[in-house]
Amino acid sequence: MVHFSTDGRPLPSPTPITAPYFDGLREHRLVLQRCPRHGYFFYPRGRCPVCLGDDWEWEELSGQGTVYSFTVDRAGHDPALASRIPFAIALVDLDEGPRLVGNMVDCEVGDVAVGMAVEAAYEDIDNTTLLGFRPVG
Ligand SMILES: [Zn+2]
Repeated sequence: MVHFSTDGRPLPSPTPITAPYFDGLREHRLVLQRCPRHGYFFYPRGRCPVCLGDDWEWEELSGQGTVYSFTVDRAGHDPALASRIPFAIALVDLDEGPRLVGNMVDCEVGDVAVGMAVEAAYEDIDNTTLLGFRPVG
């Protein structure tokens, strides 16, 4: 379910499974679940997508990574975000292995590049924090 910020942007509605992820973001920490058998990190869900085990634990990641790929929204496909165009949405390979998606911040969309070194950026909106990425170096 989606609700909207006071400036009109869609915000996530945490569930019991995803709440620790969003609680971490609110503390400006990036945490994901990690399977104890093979070290696989994954998005919040009830079971490890590799072995289906449910004995995962939350683990903090560095937030450091590199841009795997990206796209730029110049058309305002989502009316709620049309006032923010153009903006870049990046797939980021974190140093610990998992690939996350987030908006690029603190840079021009024309400067985003595959292989660019980035770090997690935390944007506080109302009582929610969104994960983005900014260039480093
Ligand atoms: Zn597993």
